[in-house]
This record gives sequence, C-alpha cells and structure tokens, in this order.
Amino acid sequence: MDKFSMSRRDALKMMGLGATGLAAASIFSPITRASEIFQGPQRQVPPGGQRPQGGAPQGGPRMSYKEKEVYSGPDVIIRQIDEHTWEGNGHLMANETIYIIEGRDKAILLDAGTKIDDLDKIVAGITSKPIILIATHVHPDHTGSAINYFPEIWIDAADTPNVPQFMAGYKGKINYLEDGQVFDLGGREIEVVFTPGHTPGSACFFDKANHIGFSGDAFGSGNLLLTTNFSTLLSTTTRIEAYMEKNGIEKMYPGHYMGANPETLQRIKDLKTISKEMIAGTRKGNVNPQGMMGLNGSVRDFGVNVSYRDPIGLK
Ligand SMILES: [Zn+2]
Repeated sequence: MDKFSMSRRDALKMMGLGATGLAAASIFSPITRASEIFQGPQRQVPPGGQRPQGGAPQGGPRMSYKEKEVYSGPDVIIRQIDEHTWEGNGHLMANETIYIIEGRDKAILLDAGTKIDDLDKIVAGITSKPIILIATHVHPDHTGSAINYFPEIWIDAADTPNVPQFMAGYKGKINYLEDGQVFDLGGREIEVVFTPGHTPGSACFFDKANHIGFSGDAFGSGNLLLTTNFSTLLSTTTRIEAYMEKNGIEKMYPGHYMGANPETLQRIKDLKTISKEMIAGTRKGNVNPQGMMGLNGSVRDFGVNVSYRDPIGLK
C-alpha cells in the first residue's frame, strides 16, 4: 500500500489505533488542528478539519509567529528565525515543524513534515548548501513523504521499530545517530543528545554557541505524548535540565512550533516534577479509556499536558 495515499482510517489502523483511536481525537489525524491537539486528549475532533489560519486558537497556545515569512506554498510556510536558521510549518498535523540549520559548508534539514511536495526544491530556494536530512524521531508528521526527495536520512536507531510503518518504502540510506555526535556544518556545530520518552528514539539537537536547541516532540510542544514511561521521562528531563544549565541553552524549538511555545528550562523542570510525583504515586492522573494511541492516562499541570499509558507507563 502506498502509505501516502492511504485513508485516515487505514493510517490509524496501521498505528494500531482501530475504532477507538478513530473516534477519539488523534494527533495523527490529518484533520487535527493545533487548537484541538493542545486542548488535550478529551476533546473531540469536529468533522471536517480546516487549515490553521493563524491567530489564537481557542484554549491553545497562540499562533503568534514573530519570525518573518520567507516562503509560502500549498504545503508549508517557512519563516526565518535568524540569518542562518529557518522554521517551516505544515498544516496537516498541528503545525508540524521542520527546521533548516545552515552553516558555512552544509545545512541540516531537521524533519520533513507530513506531506510537503518538492521539499528538496523548496529547501534549495532557502539555502544553497548541501543538505543533511535528520529526523528528531520516526513519526509520520516528521518522517513523512518528503523524506523520499533525499538520498539519506539520519535517525536514532531506537526508533527502528517505527520504520516499517512511518518510513515505508524509503529507498535511501538510513544512517544512525550517536548520542553526543556533533555535526560540523562549517562554523556551526550541532550536537546530538538522545532524549527518549515521546518515543524510544527521540533526540534533541543543540547549537550551544547560539544557546538554542531543537527538540522535536521530546517535550511535547505543550502536549507530550509519552509512549514510553515516566522513568524514561525523568531520566531525560534530569539530563536535559543539567545540559541546559551547563550550556546556557535559552530555549528549544519544538516539533510543533507556533511562535509562542518554545520549550524552556522551566518546562523541563516541570516535566521532571510531574515524572517524579507520578512515579511516587503522590500525583494522580485521569484515566480515559478512549485515550488516543493507547494513551489512556493524562495529567495536566504547569500549562503542559502529558498523556501516558496507564498502568504500564506509570513507573
Ligand atoms: Zn511524534
């Protein structure tokens, strides 16, 4: 089956969601809007989604990009973060975000969105440097069809179990990231830090000199889908808290960037607190059997929602 032409029902079935997942609001539904996903898992998806129009979705983080728009096409809008860094938003899965990180000799394309036709050409219009495609993790809104425009991709090997589903038919070469690996782009170095939690193979990427990072879905962009467990999240947040403090990292650009929701040191500390208390049993979440992706538990505090698997994700 061509994964890129399959129906929403087929897509959900492939993810093992079945009818329950179909009935519930699903992050992987093509009709999911930012305003839906960021209101937490209980909210139902209305029939017939629409493309986010910007402005403030009700109840969700404001889509208030300060970055200047430099490209607008049917599948992606690209905005410039600084002279050598860009972010691009698709509109199929809660503003799924790609990043272009340029050095003197090469550039990283971090994630490829859900379906962005001619992404190679679009990126070539932004930077003339040779492109290194890296995925923050293997999920369909990050390793979508546009990976096929590129001859190689880098992933964390821990997400290999997701490859048959979410990189189906990829003919290029798959390279495996190493924790601590540094991509030297020429005058700009990007360090890889493994941050399992959202998926086993989620990774973050740090530009220490510029005090920024890129975190994919590792910390959720405000709505963390924890497919592993709280012990894994505690380990990851403990490590990233120390890393951010040591290296003066001011913020991380997330996998669903809306202009006002970068991941901060405070967010990492809050997720660490939630993890500790959930493991200890001093904090209780809500169980919702209809939860999406089998994530039937959810806990909300400090302006962030964490969905998890009850009971197997609790420790
Ligand atoms: Zn994801």
